[in-house]
Amino acid sequence: MAAHQEKKPSEERKHRGTQNDTRTSQVQWGRAWEVDWFSLASILFLLMFAPFIVYYFIMSCDQYQCSLIDPLTDLFTGNRHLSDIWNKTPTLTYRAAGIYTLWVAFQVFLYVFIPDFCHKFLPGYVGGVQEGAVTPAGAVNKYEINGLQAWIITHVLWFANAYYFHWFSPTIIFDNWIPLLWCANVLGYAVSTFAMIKSYFFPTNAEDCKFTGNFFYDYMMGIEFNPRIGKWFDFKLFFNGRPGIVAWTLINLSYAAKQQELYGQVTNSMILVNVLQGIYVLDFFWNEAWYLKTIDICHDHFGWYLGWGDCVWLPYLYTLQGLYLVYHPVQLCTANAIGILVLGLISYYVFRMTNHQKDLFRRTNGNCKIWGKKPEYIECSYMSVDGTKYYSKLMTSGFWGWARHFNYTGDLMGSLAYCLTCTCGFQHILPYFYIVYMTILLTHRCIRDEHRCFSKYGKDWKRYTAAVPYRLIPGIF
Ligand code: NDP
Repeated sequence: MAAHQEKKPSEERKHRGTQNDTRTSQVQWGRAWEVDWFSLASILFLLMFAPFIVYYFIMSCDQYQCSLIDPLTDLFTGNRHLSDIWNKTPTLTYRAAGIYTLWVAFQVFLYVFIPDFCHKFLPGYVGGVQEGAVTPAGAVNKYEINGLQAWIITHVLWFANAYYFHWFSPTIIFDNWIPLLWCANVLGYAVSTFAMIKSYFFPTNAEDCKFTGNFFYDYMMGIEFNPRIGKWFDFKLFFNGRPGIVAWTLINLSYAAKQQELYGQVTNSMILVNVLQGIYVLDFFWNEAWYLKTIDICHDHFGWYLGWGDCVWLPYLYTLQGLYLVYHPVQLCTANAIGILVLGLISYYVFRMTNHQKDLFRRTNGNCKIWGKKPEYIECSYMSVDGTKYYSKLMTSGFWGWARHFNYTGDLMGSLAYCLTCTCGFQHILPYFYIVYMTILLTHRCIRDEHRCFSKYGKDWKRYTAAVPYRLIPGIF
């Protein structure tokens, strides 16, 4: 990656640290080495309850028309018992297991065996073999970027089936939603457990492993940085993008098909959810090479948080608006629909432009124009595990001069737009879960990232926060 973390070879030897320096930088850079009580408590809570939270949301739609309150009321008043709810829950079926196995196998096939051809004919698209960022141990991994192609092939086949072949009903995902939830959990736990075992016995890069000595923390936050099988099968890139994000748009399409089947029409709110989230997903794959520079790939280790999260949390909870609209087919008045569309498009613009500005700045090492001017920045340095000193730059121009995470602000505005599609008076909390969750996720991510950046850049980071004092909302936070 050209200018991301620029290494100046001439100065490298001069700055090579002692064993102690090395240990210090190793202790500080990346995810935690030591686990505080709050982190441990949060992790235990999530490990124990996250699968039930997902189940609760999906079950409440299946049995209570998406009301999150009614199941609790029923339980507290003794109207129903847990066993009644559980007995009404669809179980794992051979059909769901078959669908899920085929689905994951097909995505593995597209990822591993079909090298990218999109970059050969799509102007501006960066695909094929690309380099990731420098890891804490100083390694640079290569990735086969072919997610856009996988997304296109999958969706072409989906539409070909829906309109021409009729091998299966387009409502297949909705119709098997709870049995598929069990399959997704099996994969999520299997892959997280495999990643844990692998990190002990055959890690891809032993120097990039982190052991805290706390089993639960290590299981959740991961030990290996970039686990791989063979040269190309990268766990992080595959699990986040393929079973998770390719599925996102298919799930929404399945919900739209279900609305058509149940009500004879697809509402404008469902179309809005499909379009706005479709733009977000397509953007992700169009910029998959850029994704190599995001926190997930550059800083997070691969554990349950990413493995289970990508298999279960993301496909099930990011698609709640579409699920809600199957049970409550909201038809928005034209003014509301246009207002939400405009909010969604503005948010997307803010999200994309902010990310683009940083990417352009880092790719060109600051030799670019941001809003027509040469960007301003703060020079900073950091050290990798082997004691090599690297140089980097933190931009203070464009949206990055407004707030330190304005890309998150765009993301949050977009999340609000998705939720508002379900508005027809305030009937249920469920469709708003996404904006609440994203606010918690991105605020926590913001704090986590800043903590890490401070550990990495030290006083240079302080100079940056003095120059750009707000995190998400200029003048407020
Ligand atoms: P960023 O893309 O904001 O990356 C943060 C990193 O960028 C920092 O660690 C630092 O890395 C570098 N950086 C920070 N400030 C500057 C600056 N001023 N100039 C140059 N580089 C800087 O964060 P994420 O990876 O978390 O997010 C990427 C996108 O993905 C966001 O738009 C976010 O909204 C979205 N996202 C969506 C999620 C979802 O579930 N829908 C979940 C997570 C993210 P370095 O060490 O290289 O300096």
